Amino acid sequence: MKKILFIDRDGTIIEEPPGDFQVDRMDKLRFKPGVIGALRKITEETDYRLVMVSNQDGLGTTAFPLTVFMPPHDFMLKVLAGEGIVFDEVLIDGSFPEENSPCRKPGTGMVKKYIDEWLDRENSYVIGDRLTDMELASNMGLKGILFGEKKAEGCPEAIVCSSWEKVYRYLKSCSRRVSLSRETSETEVRVTLVLDGAGESDIRTGIGFFDHMLEQVARHGGVDLIVVANGDREVDEHHTIEDTAILLGRCFAVALGSKKGIERYGFALPMDDSRAEVLLDFSGRGYLVWEVRFEREYVGEFPTEMTRHFFESFCREAGCNLHVVAKGENTHHLIEAIFKAFGRCINTAIKVTGTSIPSSKGQL
Ligand SMILES: [Mg+2]
Repeated sequence: MKKILFIDRDGTIIEEPPGDFQVDRMDKLRFKPGVIGALRKITEETDYRLVMVSNQDGLGTTAFPLTVFMPPHDFMLKVLAGEGIVFDEVLIDGSFPEENSPCRKPGTGMVKKYIDEWLDRENSYVIGDRLTDMELASNMGLKGILFGEKKAEGCPEAIVCSSWEKVYRYLKSCSRRVSLSRETSETEVRVTLVLDGAGESDIRTGIGFFDHMLEQVARHGGVDLIVVANGDREVDEHHTIEDTAILLGRCFAVALGSKKGIERYGFALPMDDSRAEVLLDFSGRGYLVWEVRFEREYVGEFPTEMTRHFFESFCREAGCNLHVVAKGENTHHLIEAIFKAFGRCINTAIKVTGTSIPSSKGQL
C-alpha cells in the first residue's frame, strides 16, 4: 500500500502573494519557514511519497502565461530536489473557478488514478492551507492537514498544524500505524498496531492466557496493540490463535514498510526457573527455528502446542526469521518468558536509529 502526501503549493510550500495570488516573478518566490527541513526529514525517515496538487487560475492564458509561471516554479522544484525532496508528480489545474472543472480542487479529477490505485487511505493525507484542500481530502476519503493558523471551521475532522515542524512531528508519530481485519468461515480478527507506541494494549481473544501473552508482546515491545478475535472456540482454540498470529504478522509487515532505519535482531531473559532466548530479524524471509519442549498440554485454555504454531504463522506473515531457544520447569513461566523476550526483540528491532534500509541488498 502506498502512503502518499498530496501537498498544496501556494500558501503551503511557498508564500501566496497577497493581491493577485500569482507567483509570476522570481522576487515573489518565498519558501514557507521550515518547509525544506521538514520535507527532507519526512523523505528521509518515512515511507511517504509526495505528490503536489495545485490550482493556478487561468494558467496558460493571457491572465497567467506559462512563460511567467515556469521560471519561479522550476526554481522551487530544483531547490527542493537539491535537498532530496522529489515529487512523484506535480499536478496543476489551470482552469478558472467559474469553469467548474472536475479537475480543479476540491474536485478529484487530477488525483483520480491515485484513488483507484492501492492507496493506504488510513495513512495518506492532503496538506494545504485552504478549506478546499480539506474538502479534497474528504472527497478522496483521506484525512486533511490544515496548514497555518486558520480554524478548521466547516472541516472539524481536519488536523490543524501551525508550522511545518508540527506537520513533521505529527506524521512521524503516526507513520508506522496499521489497522487490519481478516474474516474466514472460522474466525473474525481485527488488529490495530502502533509501532511507536507506549506499550498499551486491549486484547480480547476469548483465551485468557493468550490475551496475557499478547499483552506481554505489547508491553515489552513498546508497541500499542488492539486485538479483537472471535473464533470457533467450540471446535478448539487452534483457529483463533493461528489466525490472530497471521494477522498480527501481517500488521508488522505493513507497519514496518520499507524498514528504513530499523535496528533488527535479538534478546534473552530469565523468568524464575525458565530462560528464553529469542533472536529476530525482519529479513523479509519467514523462517522459524524452535528448540522448546513443554511438559504440560494446556495452560488455562491455551494449548501449549499452539505456541510454536503461533510463532510459525507470525514469521511467515511478518517476513521475519525467528530463533526461539528456551527451557524451564514451569510451563506458564516458560511460555511467558518466550513472549516477553519476543516483545523485547520487537522493541529493539523496530526502533528507528538510522535513515537507510539496514541491508547491503538495499531492501528487506
Ligand atoms: Mg494554497
